[in-house]
Amino acid sequence: MTKYTLILLGAIGVGKGTQAQRLSRHLGIPQIATGDLLRMEGQAGTDLGRRAAEIMNRGELVPDDIIVDMVRGRLLRDDAVRGAVFDGFPRTVPQAEALDGMLKDMDLPTPHVVSIEVPESEIIERLSSRRVCVTCGAVFNVKINPAAIENHKCPKGEARVILRDDDQPETIQQRLTVYRAKTLPMVTHYREKGSFREVSGMGTEDQVFARILIAMDPDLS
Ligand code: ADP
Repeated sequence: MTKYTLILLGAIGVGKGTQAQRLSRHLGIPQIATGDLLRMEGQAGTDLGRRAAEIMNRGELVPDDIIVDMVRGRLLRDDAVRGAVFDGFPRTVPQAEALDGMLKDMDLPTPHVVSIEVPESEIIERLSSRRVCVTCGAVFNVKINPAAIENHKCPKGEARVILRDDDQPETIQQRLTVYRAKTLPMVTHYREKGSFREVSGMGTEDQVFARILIAMDPDLS
C-alpha cells in the first residue's frame, strides 16, 4: 500500500483549497482542510464551532491545541490510512512540530511540501471576488466565472453562494498580517527539510495543478 502525505502551503487565497480537492481525487487520499473542519463545527452549532467562528471572523488563528486535536481525530478515520492532503494546516511552528509527531505515530511518511506563490495584490483581488456555497462549500470567483453563480445560487444545488465573513476587506488585511507573523516562520521549518518545492499560483487552475504534480514527483503527472 503506497502511502502519501502532502502539505499545500501558501498565503490565504492562493488557491490551496481548489488544488487540494483536485490532488485528493488524483491521489485517492482525503483532503484535510482545517478551515473547512472549523466551519463544519460552526454549522453544527458546537461550542468549538461558536468559539472558532468568533476568532475566524476577527482574522486571528484558532489556538494550536484545538487545531492539533481536530486534525488527529480526522487522521485517525479509516479513509486516511494511506495519508492525506493537508490544506490550511499546519499554520504555525508548533502545529508543524505536532504534525511531524503524529505522522510518525501513525506510521505515515514524511510529507511532500509544495508552496503556492501568488503576489499579495493578486491575493486581495481574488479574495474579494471569492464566493462560497453555504451548503456544499464549493468555491467560485465572480470575476473569472460570473455566469456560474447567477442569482447567487450554487450550480451544484439551489443553495446560496456568499462572500465569507472573513473575506471582508478589513479581515483580509488582518489575515495577511497574521500570515506573515505566524505562518511564514513555519514555512522555514519545511524549507530546511528535504522535500520542499515552490510553484507559481498564477495562471489557470489546470496550469497550477500540473505544476504541483511535477513539483511533487514527475511520475505523478
Ligand atoms: P484561508 O486559507 O483562505 O485563510 P481557511 O479556510 O484555511 O482559509 O482558514 C480560515 C480561518 O480558519 C483562518 O483565518 C483561521 O482563523 C482558521 N484556521 C484554519 N486553519 C487553521 C489552523 N491550522 N490554525 C489556526 N487557525 C486556523
